[in-house]
Amino acid sequence: MTNDLQFDLLVVGGGINGAGIARDAAGRGLRVLLCEKDDLAGHTSSASTKLIHGGLRYLEYYEFGLVRKALKEREVLLRAAPHIIWPLRFVMPHVPHLRPAWMIRLGLFLYDHLSKRELLPGSTGVNLKNSQLGAPLQSSMHKGFVYSDAWVDDARLVVLNAMDAQERGACILTRTKLQSAHREAGVWQATLLKDQQTEIKVTARAIVNAAGPWASELLHQHLHQTARNEVRLVKGSHIVVKKMFEHDHAYIFQNPDKRIIFAIPYEHEFTLIGTTDLEYKGDAGAVNISTDEVSYLCESANRYFKQSIKSADVVWTYSGVRPLLEQEDADNPSAVTRDYHLELDTDQDQAPILSVFGGKITTFRCLAEEAVNMLTGPLGIMKGPWTAPASLPGGDIPNADFNGFLRHIEAQFSWLPSSIVYRYARNYGTRALTLLADCHSLQDLGEQLMPGLYEAEVRYLVEHEWARSTDDILWRRTKLGLHATTAGTDALEQLVMRLLAALPRRIVAF
Ligand SMILES: Cc1cc2nc3c(=O)[nH]c(=O)nc-3n(C[C@H](O)[C@H](O)[C@H](O)COP(=O)(O)OP(=O)(O)OC[C@H]3O[C@@H](n4cnc5c(N)ncnc54)[C@H](O)[C@@H]3O)c2cc1C
Repeated sequence: MTNDLQFDLLVVGGGINGAGIARDAAGRGLRVLLCEKDDLAGHTSSASTKLIHGGLRYLEYYEFGLVRKALKEREVLLRAAPHIIWPLRFVMPHVPHLRPAWMIRLGLFLYDHLSKRELLPGSTGVNLKNSQLGAPLQSSMHKGFVYSDAWVDDARLVVLNAMDAQERGACILTRTKLQSAHREAGVWQATLLKDQQTEIKVTARAIVNAAGPWASELLHQHLHQTARNEVRLVKGSHIVVKKMFEHDHAYIFQNPDKRIIFAIPYEHEFTLIGTTDLEYKGDAGAVNISTDEVSYLCESANRYFKQSIKSADVVWTYSGVRPLLEQEDADNPSAVTRDYHLELDTDQDQAPILSVFGGKITTFRCLAEEAVNMLTGPLGIMKGPWTAPASLPGGDIPNADFNGFLRHIEAQFSWLPSSIVYRYARNYGTRALTLLADCHSLQDLGEQLMPGLYEAEVRYLVEHEWARSTDDILWRRTKLGLHATTAGTDALEQLVMRLLAALPRRIVAF
């Protein structure tokens, strides 16, 4: 294998933080290589509650700095990717013995005012007795509060960052693990393993460790480094059930254990309920929901909704581990800070390594900006921060007006069924035009593999979004897995294999 692949920055980890850093660094002119051992967003970054939020509950832990930073980011991200990020109103039924009304009002006042808000409406009270928002709830719920946050397709956010990084010159290698690296002659000499078989040797002037739950393991076992910080793994699981309410608001429910859970409209026909918060010691790559977690989430929902749910009603679940910053003084997993810490080690002027501990999807862009700023000196970066006003791929929608864009593309592709044009607009934004290039009728989309999934979309995902398996397509690039049949999945697998075989080698391999 060649030994002359030279980069300025090797980013390890294709979750939201690695992809965000690769994008920022590539945009500042660095030669960037990102390696991800599995699929982009294959782990925590596709297993979140999918909220771009300040985190109302963090106010109880006096995390004002984190909440302000996250609230500010909501507006930045709503503008950057209005196709995959949109406003969401939350209803909090009032349960006086859990938290008094004055406390909630004070919290919501702070939430409304900690940061400038232009796109989202402020909070208000609601009489649940005469509102459709109260209709699905038990009759004991009289009053409530309504406030704003935003929803994100987390896995797609990662892919869009990787696409933007690539379009700015970065090299993105999925299914490629960093095996080992050591400092030599002022640079990092790294060995990567692609598809568990092909060794690739590269040099990089700096490494970013964005391995999320594996950040400590990467440092100690693969790079033989010490660090001042460690990650603490906290598991969170979600259940998906058939739609429990008709309106488009989400609910935030308080539990007697002081935790909160969300019930969110999901993929038109479903309700997403989560999350749990449990200390986790096992393999971060093999995390699954337990029966106790399913019971906990069903019981939490049953305290509020008229319709009772049980484990048999669950149609899908997912789990992930939060890679939180270890703090000695936090016993309760819910109390561990959700803020991030960046640790830069230049070890007596040697090639630097920067490690990411903690973080949230919501703050990925400022985390990335801060990370690249920290590397400015060691790498001699001339260009300053640039991502705040920049769109992500497909997000260059005039005035961030998604509905206007939808009307436009519905008119342009009037031959497409409305459910498909809506899904393409949401998933791909203006890049839907690339997917639909040269298509003038439904036949031009090719074979229909399962309801709503045509060959043209699969081709686009394989050629432009690093999709390599049915799971990549059904669970991360889209959520069509919720509707997939075995026959459809088999047909999809055959097609993916055919498309991969036909791809130019430079796209499949390095
Ligand atoms: C249940 C739950 C709910 C959440 N809800 C929200 C929410 O609503 N809003 C919010 O803002 N945040 C939320 N978060 C937090 C957010 O999801 C995480 O902070 C974020 O996804 C972490 O991203 P990451 O890039 O650090 O880690 P990851 O997404 O895990 O990415 C790290 C990547 O590194 C790769 N990797 C590891 N080792 C190697 C190696 N040796 N070589 C190559 N690749 C390697 C892994 O395969 C992995 O893909 C939630 C988290 C959880 C678990």
